[in-house]
Amino acid sequence: MTTKTCSKCGEAKAPEMFPTGANRCRVCQKLYNAEYYLLHKEKIISKVSEYARKNKPVKTVQHAAWRERNKWKVKAYAAKSKAKFPDVYRERAAKRSAKWANANPLKQKQMRAKRVKNVTQSYISALLHIPVSEIPKDLIELKREQLLTIRITKQLASIIKEKSNGS
Ligand SMILES: [Zn+2]
Repeated sequence: MTTKTCSKCGEAKAPEMFPTGANRCRVCQKLYNAEYYLLHKEKIISKVSEYARKNKPVKTVQHAAWRERNKWKVKAYAAKSKAKFPDVYRERAAKRSAKWANANPLKQKQMRAKRVKNVTQSYISALLHIPVSEIPKDLIELKREQLLTIRITKQLASIIKEKSNGS
């Protein structure tokens, strides 16, 4: 096997340990990049944000077009990172829905009523304090049946009460 000697650390390493065309190995390059970033942090940040500001409309349109063309890629990537960082995503989703609820109190109330009435997954998830993605389907069904049974029992009880009060 041929090896290449790193110009920085002097170690002989496999060629795939070097970025294409580089004389520094990946480890040294990474360290160098990190050091460079720390030394020039402010400059880099201001350059990047300036570039972003200048190119925002173009970039946004380009990005949107790219996302549209690569929908499956975007989806796959999102799913992958969601699986990797479930807590981050959960927190983000919770924040988003809290923000939305704050801005749309009436709709939020209606939607909650609907969730309760239809005994939806998200309602059951909230009741059980288990994220929707982690509740087994059987448990959802079981809980749903239980809730509906309680409701019917209550309705029956109130009907019976009414009747006995009336007579
Ligand atoms: Zn090196």
